[in-house]
Formats: sequence, C-alpha cells, structure tokens
Amino acid sequence: MNYKRSSALFEAAQKVIPGGVNSPVRAFTAVGGDPVFIERAEGAYLFDADGNKYIDYINSWGPMILGHAHKPVVDAIIEKTKMGTSFGTPTEIETKIAELAVKMVPNIDKIRFVNSGTEACMSAVRLARGYTSKEKIIKFAGCYHGHSDSFLIQAGSGAMTFGTPNSPGVTQGTAKDTLLAKYNDLKSVVELVESNSGEIACIILEPVAGNMGCIPPQNGFLEGLRRLCDENDILLIFDEVMTGFRLAPGGVQERLGVKADLVTFGKVIGGGLPVGAFAGRSGIMDYLAPIGPVYQAGTLSGNPLAMAAGLAMLTELDENRSIFESIDKKTAYLHMGMESVLKSNNVAHTINRIGSMISVHFSEQPVTDFESAAHGNNHLFKEFFRGMLDNGIYIAPSAFETWFITDALSYEDLDRTIAVVEKITRDF
Ligand code: PMP
Repeated sequence: MNYKRSSALFEAAQKVIPGGVNSPVRAFTAVGGDPVFIERAEGAYLFDADGNKYIDYINSWGPMILGHAHKPVVDAIIEKTKMGTSFGTPTEIETKIAELAVKMVPNIDKIRFVNSGTEACMSAVRLARGYTSKEKIIKFAGCYHGHSDSFLIQAGSGAMTFGTPNSPGVTQGTAKDTLLAKYNDLKSVVELVESNSGEIACIILEPVAGNMGCIPPQNGFLEGLRRLCDENDILLIFDEVMTGFRLAPGGVQERLGVKADLVTFGKVIGGGLPVGAFAGRSGIMDYLAPIGPVYQAGTLSGNPLAMAAGLAMLTELDENRSIFESIDKKTAYLHMGMESVLKSNNVAHTINRIGSMISVHFSEQPVTDFESAAHGNNHLFKEFFRGMLDNGIYIAPSAFETWFITDALSYEDLDRTIAVVEKITRDF
C-alpha cells in the first residue's frame, strides 16, 4: 500500500500540532511508522488520504457501534444544525435523551451530560467526594478513566499503596489521594480499604476493562467490590465509557447484574459527537449544582447537535435490541476464526472477549490484569499491526487496546480479516 499523502500530511501536522496529533494514541508511536490520515468513512470501512480502504476495528474507539456515517445519526445532526448549533440554554432534546438513557440503564434516576468521558469520570469522582465528605479514591492499575489529574496514576514496578504521578504536571498532593489496587484482585482492595479506614470516597473501575486489552472481571470480583462498598460507605463507580450501550442496552450493570452507585458514559452515547455523561440515583445526583453543593458545569454540555446524534443512536439501539445479539455473534465468529488460525500457525496467544469487546494478546498466559497484559510479546504485536494495516485491516496501534466491533461488519469482512490474520502470522 502507498501511504505517501498520509506521511506528507503528518509532516505538516507535526509543525503546528504537538506530535502531529490531538490525542497521543493516534500516533503510531508504539508500532512505528507514520499514522494514516483518514478522509472519510462509511459503514465498516475507512478510506485514507491515499485512497486506501480498511476494514475498521477501532470505530472511533467505540462510538460507531452501528457503523460510520450511519444514516439516522447523520440525518439527525443535519436537521438539528439548520436550527442553530448552540444556545447555552436548556433544550427539549436534553430531556428526551436523558429519559431514554434512564429507561435503558438500570439503577439510575438522573443523568448529567458533559463533553467527554474524561469530564464524566472527573465529575463523578468530585460528586462522590462531595456526597461522602471523604477524599481518597481507589482505582485499578491498567484502568483508564480519562486524563484528569487524579486518574493519571498507574502502578509502577512492585505493589504500591500510594500513587505516584506518572505524568509530569500531576502533583504529589493529587497523587496521594489516588490509591492503586490490582484488577481482579479483591484482596488488594480490601487491604487498601482497611488501611485507609473511613477515608475512601469511592472505588472507580472499568467493570469490564478495555484499556489493557479486553479483560473481563473474574467471577465474584464485582460482587465483592459491591459488598465492600456497602460495608464501608464507599460509592462504587462503574466507568462504562466503553461498555455502556455496548455490552447490553443497560451496560455491565445489566449484563453482569451488579449495581453501581454512579455510572459514567462516553463514546456510544454521543453517536460519534463529543459527549460524556454520568448518572445515578436521585439521592446522589441531587448533590449537584444548582440544587446541591457540588459544582459542575459546561458551556457546550448538552449541545443540541451532540444530543441529536446521541438520541438517534440510543433510539435505534433501544428499538432494535437484536443489534446486541448480532454484534456479539459477529465478535464470537471472529474470535473462533482467529483462534483457529493462530493455533494452526503455532502462535502463542490469548484472546480475551466479552460480547463485542475482544483483544488478541501474544502471550500464552491468561491475561487478567495489567501485569499479565504487559507480559505480551510487543515485537510480535508490532509485526501483526503492520501486517494487518498493509492488508487493509485497521486495528488500534497498541497492544493495550480492545477492538471495537461494529454491527456494520459483514461475515465476508470477518472472513477476510481471519484470512489476513492467517497469512501474516504464518511466519511468526
Ligand atoms: N473511560 C474509559 C473507560 C475510556 O476508555 C476513556 C477513553 N478511551 C475515557 C474514560 C475517557 O474518555 P474521553 O477520551 O472521551 O475523555
């Protein structure tokens, strides 16, 4: 494939945008080479600036669950645009999408819309702190909740009880209030709760992790967290930015039957426009300004175009719930196909999957947490990524990302993908 124009565009971008990208993971830093610049997309396909066509397994990192340029979503945005793009006042459509979200998701009475998943998680944690009058939070190594200061803390080497900032600019003062636990390890959480008795406002996690590849919670893990929170007056926050409106209409709470106190959303809920949201029971949500003391705001929050895109998306998912079964089936088909060719090519691998989230790890060991995810063969992943790209398959340029499956994929697309996986891993 020829990537000439993408490379020229990247060179120009680097002169005026740090690293040439507006979000780091878009650069091909982990896999080498220049990123491809996408010009347009339709259904399951991306078309780049050189005219190359790709089957897309990123789907804007999740939102495009029904495919790119999905007609009902595009039409809704166009119609809304004609009426003005932002007023900074309440609009009826905000209530409509809120009513629908509250209907689809269990255990929530009220929802507030923001502009990104980062904002949603940041605001949910502030609300939890305000509601409980406690300051510390527990997060899990390998879980991503956006780039707000409190979340840019990860386990370095060895077990840590107190967070260390892993990005310059995050102060020690902030870092010390974020405690780190190990995903799928309830004991590590119990220890933190015991040694910080009465000080923990909330536990925030991806109830199915997607930012260290796809890592489902092991049996009893979420239930154990729920119990621990109930016993210690701690709020449990499910970050469903990836999983919400994807793993089930009501997200992980519905799929796995565990209740959260606050839930955060992003990606699918905005239909591809910049939207995030956080939600919970009235008793907690009413702590928010203007009726409660916890401040949270946004000039463009609930923007009419964003709400129109989100409402069109959620309406379709609500009215046609067989979509969830359909994407799960397609993902299972891909799973089985890749499993079989990797096995016959003798490639050490582990494929993790739940519903329409799936990731391929080049490691034979079970991948259950950040450490085991980091154990994968990075060199092989780079070759795999390059081979996929050069054969017209677009996966995330990092081994620590889940693949996002769209219902726009046909079984022919899946067969082609499996055939490419077979071809490029023959000499691995
Ligand atoms: N939470 C999770 C689970 C995410 O995957 C992401 C983004 N990938 C975020 C929060 C942050 O969302 P945003 O990039 O919209 O700020």
